[in-house]
Amino acid sequence: MTTACKSCAFFETAAAKIDHAGLCRFNPPVFLTEEEKRGVWPVVSDTDWCGHFSDEPTKH
Ligand code: SF4
Repeated sequence: MTTACKSCAFFETAAAKIDHAGLCRFNPPVFLTEEEKRGVWPVVSDTDWCGHFSDEPTKH
């Protein structure tokens, strides 16, 4: 298994609507500026990765 967001249990492409990218659902939505009224899921590249990578949602 490749350690990359596209293989991670927390990666979701359906709502991202961006080529070669998806949403990381490891943490709750975040606010990027103080003016924003609602948080957003972080967008990550499908070839990116982080230390929370997991092939199962319960393993991290
Ligand atoms: S940023 Fe980390 S937790 Fe989020 S999808 Fe990529 S590897 Fe998984």
